[in-house]
Amino acid sequence: MNNVQTEIDHAEKRCHSHGTRLTHKRKQVLAGLLLSGKALSAYELASYCQTEIAETISVMSVYRILDFLEGEQLVHKLKLANKFVACSHISCSHSHGVPQFLICNQCQSVREITINQSTFKSLQQNVEEAGYHLVSPQLEMSCLCDECMSKAA
Ligand SMILES: [Zn+2]
Ligand SMILES: [Zn+2]
Ligand SMILES: [Zn+2]
Repeated sequence: MNNVQTEIDHAEKRCHSHGTRLTHKRKQVLAGLLLSGKALSAYELASYCQTEIAETISVMSVYRILDFLEGEQLVHKLKLANKFVACSHISCSHSHGVPQFLICNQCQSVREITINQSTFKSLQQNVEEAGYHLVSPQLEMSCLCDECMSKAA
């Protein structure tokens, strides 16, 4: 995990280059998500910000802010879990690939990996053969992380 402040600095630069602004509240919400290192719902994130960084933000505002951060590709929404996770490529300069999320059932930690092109192509092909069209290729997989796996053993 990179230093949170470094990530925030990069996020701020990215917003600036898009002509948007990472306001104080937006910064706090992103920092909260980065610090937690987990996928959190807007409710969980609002209470995390309250207890961990002493920042009171209403759930409605957290939703709005997450929406903004998602638009800037600084956070991702896990559609199945209805939770949000900080992007792990905030400080990268390469273009963002199709993300795949590995979510630990036990501790809720999330790893963001990039699907390789050939896997993506064959997925897409399967979908189209079934007569459907892919709207969002984002994959969310239910997993057990190494740590939880070894605890269970
Ligand atoms: Zn990402
Ligand atoms: Zn990267
Ligand atoms: Zn785990």
